[in-house]
Amino acid sequence: MSILVYCDTFEGKLRKVSLELLSEAAKIADKSGDTVEAIVLGSGAKALAGETGKYGVKKAYYCEDASLEKYSTEGYVDVAKQAFDKSSPKLFLAGHNSRGRDFAPRLAQKLDLGMVSDVIAIEANGDDFTFTKPIYAGKCITKQKCKTSPAFVTVRPNVMSVATKDLGAPELVELKPEVSLSDIRAIVKEILLQKSERPELTEARVIVSGGRGLGKADGFKLIEELADALGAAVGASRAAVDSGWIGHSVQVGQTGKVVAPTLYVACGISGAIQHLAGMSSSKFIVAINKDSEAPIFNIASYGIVGDLYKVIPVMIAELKKVMA
Ligand SMILES: Cc1cc2nc3c(=O)[nH]c(=O)nc-3n(C[C@H](O)[C@H](O)[C@H](O)COP(=O)(O)OP(=O)(O)OC[C@H]3O[C@@H](n4cnc5c(N)ncnc54)[C@H](O)[C@@H]3O)c2cc1C
Repeated sequence: MSILVYCDTFEGKLRKVSLELLSEAAKIADKSGDTVEAIVLGSGAKALAGETGKYGVKKAYYCEDASLEKYSTEGYVDVAKQAFDKSSPKLFLAGHNSRGRDFAPRLAQKLDLGMVSDVIAIEANGDDFTFTKPIYAGKCITKQKCKTSPAFVTVRPNVMSVATKDLGAPELVELKPEVSLSDIRAIVKEILLQKSERPELTEARVIVSGGRGLGKADGFKLIEELADALGAAVGASRAAVDSGWIGHSVQVGQTGKVVAPTLYVACGISGAIQHLAGMSSSKFIVAINKDSEAPIFNIASYGIVGDLYKVIPVMIAELKKVMA
């Protein structure tokens, strides 16, 4: 049987989360003797489908039709459903990023399947899968199974590692859309990308986030300086976003982005449950806060009690020495 992975793309590349899912699928397939299959949609899909062979994919379904050039739920679900029907997988994986969160539940509904979302670990025992996922904004971790078969899940980005397994060129299967552009009810007209030299927040290995403790919008200059010294992305708490100091696109948390970097540096952030919901699965958390009782210290790997305006410049100076 197959394990089918929906591979999301961005600016002509497979997204990192897609490589993580392919690697995880290959690991499971190695043990069970199943094959890994992939779905790649949108412009450049054929070439990108070809690249999936480096990550253990035997067969890749693709569609480059003009109707898929910009993402639409209906367009993508229509073609992905065709791939699903042809592949007949025992496990379906998609990333729990903004596109996966939109697309996967709709596809599951069309297939009349239940789904488990925001999975952070998969245990496979033959055809039986157990999924680990955070609930109650990350306060508890549960293990869940899909009651319907095949198992259908979205997986949090950055929680699984990428490993290559070169099987050469996969078999490519072209799909044609059944839904035409004029039937699609909601169309993306324009995507305005905030251009930045820094890594994309949800895929970054290191994130430096600022909160209300910065006290002013200008405080983010210091956060950016530390981020640049670490090659990190910049994040923020909702309090900082609501104060108008930085855009919502970098908000981390329950109503912002969910991130899982190797290193998360929280500066002047108290550690409210809604913020933790977005970053508690980071591998190492460093908290800088002048209040030694701040809840962020309960989950921090390393804590620095002090005024961030005194602590961060010292960190930057030391990092510059180390990096020089
Ligand atoms: C439905 C709902 C959804 C929400 N979603 C989100 C979300 O997605 N993301 C999110 O972040 N929040 C979210 N919130 C808001 C959340 O409850 C908190 O209000 C918010 O996270 C607090 O942000 P903060 O830690 O920056 O501010 P505060 O809680 O005010 O903490 C500021 C911290 O900075 C410290 N500090 C102050 N000055 C300094 C200094 N000079 N040096 C060092 N430390 C200093 C203080 O000791 C304090 O601990 C949500 C709330 C609700 C109700």
